[in-house]
Amino acid sequence: MRRVLLQAAAMLLCAAMLLCGGCGENTESAEQSASTDAAEAVTKDVFAMDTYMTLTAYGDGASDAVDQAVNYIETLDAMLSTGSADSEISKLNETGSAVLSSEAAELFARALEIAEATDGAFHPLLYPIMEAWGFPTHEYRVPDAAELESLLQLTDLDDVTLDADSGLVTFLKEGMKADLGGIAKGYTSSQIMEIFQSCGVTSGMVSLGGNVQVLGAKPDGSDWRIALQNPDETENYLGVLETQDRAVITSGGYERYFEQDGTIYHHIIDAKTGYPAESGLQSVTIVSEDGTLADGLSTALFVMGLDTAKAYWQANSSTFDAIFLTDDDTLYVTAGLKDCFTSSDYDWIVIEEVQ
Ligand code: ADP
Ligand code: MG
Repeated sequence: MRRVLLQAAAMLLCAAMLLCGGCGENTESAEQSASTDAAEAVTKDVFAMDTYMTLTAYGDGASDAVDQAVNYIETLDAMLSTGSADSEISKLNETGSAVLSSEAAELFARALEIAEATDGAFHPLLYPIMEAWGFPTHEYRVPDAAELESLLQLTDLDDVTLDADSGLVTFLKEGMKADLGGIAKGYTSSQIMEIFQSCGVTSGMVSLGGNVQVLGAKPDGSDWRIALQNPDETENYLGVLETQDRAVITSGGYERYFEQDGTIYHHIIDAKTGYPAESGLQSVTIVSEDGTLADGLSTALFVMGLDTAKAYWQANSSTFDAIFLTDDDTLYVTAGLKDCFTSSDYDWIVIEEVQ
C-alpha cells in the first residue's frame, strides 16, 4: 500500500512537471506556470479507477472541459469497474449474460478485437484468475497448478458472444468473468481528449496514474515533454518523450504485486499459463494516437516479451510506437520515436522497421 502511495505521489509530481515543460530542470509549480502562459490552465486532481488522476486544459472552455471530464470519469468508473457490484461489468460477471449500454458494448468489442489481434496476450476474460490470485481484494495467495488449470477453462475467447446491435454479451460457461481493467484507463484518456475538443480546448493533458494522453501542443506551441517512470527508482526517469496528440501508456509488473516466499507475483497474467507473465520485460510503454489501443497493447506486449513484441510492432508500426525495458536493464525504442526520445541514464537500442 505504501509503495502504491509513493508511486502515486511520484506520478502526480511527474504530471506537474509536464506542465512546466521540463523534467528535473524546472521546479515551478503548475499554478505559477499557468499564470505566465498566455492561455490560463485549469487543473483538477481526482481519485478514480483505483488511481490518482490529473487533468489539465488550457484556454477558453478549459474550466467546462475539465468539469465535464471529471463527471465522465465517474460515469465510466461506475460502468466498468469490477470492484463495484452495480457496474455493468459486475452485473455481467454475476449473471453470465447482460445487455450492455452502447458505450460499454463498444469497449467490450474493442477488447475482443485487441485480444484477437494479439493472439490472446491481451485477454479480457482473466478475471476468475485475477480473483484466484487475490488481486481484486488484496487478499493475496498463490493458487496451485490444478486450480489455475481448471480456471483456465473459463477463459476461452470462443466462449463469449457479443451482439453488436443489442449489446447483449453472453458467456457460454458458468463462472466466466470479464475484466476491462487492461484498457479502461486508455479508453478514458482518449475520450477525455474528445471532451476537451468538444469544449473548444486545443491544448490539454491527462495523467491517469502515470498513463498520459496529451491534446495538441503546449499552449506556447512546443511539444509536451512526458517523463517515463523508471521501475527501479521512482525519482529517476527512464527518459523523456517529446510529443503532441498522443497517449503514452506504460504497463509493468512493478505497478501492482505481492511477494510470497521470496517470489514476486505481479498483476499482468499470461492467459496461456494463468501465472503472472514472465517475459523478460520490466516495462512496456506504448505511444499512439489511440489511447485504448495504447493501453491494450502495453499489457499485451508486456506479456509477449521482446522478440514477439518487436515482430508485432514491425507488422503494425503505422499505429503505434513502443519503448521496452528488459529485466537486464536494456532499453529498446522503436524507430518512430528515435528523434523525440531522450535519456540521460540509458544508452538505448533502436528497433528498426523491416526493409
Ligand atoms: P494498469 O491498469 O495497472 O496500469 P495494465 O494496463 O497493464 O496496468 O492492466 C493490468 C490490469 O489488466 C490488471 O490489473 C488486470 O485487471 C487486467 N489484466 C491482467 N492481465 C491481463 C491480460 N493479459 N490482458 C488484459 N488484461 C489483463
Ligand atoms: Mg493496459
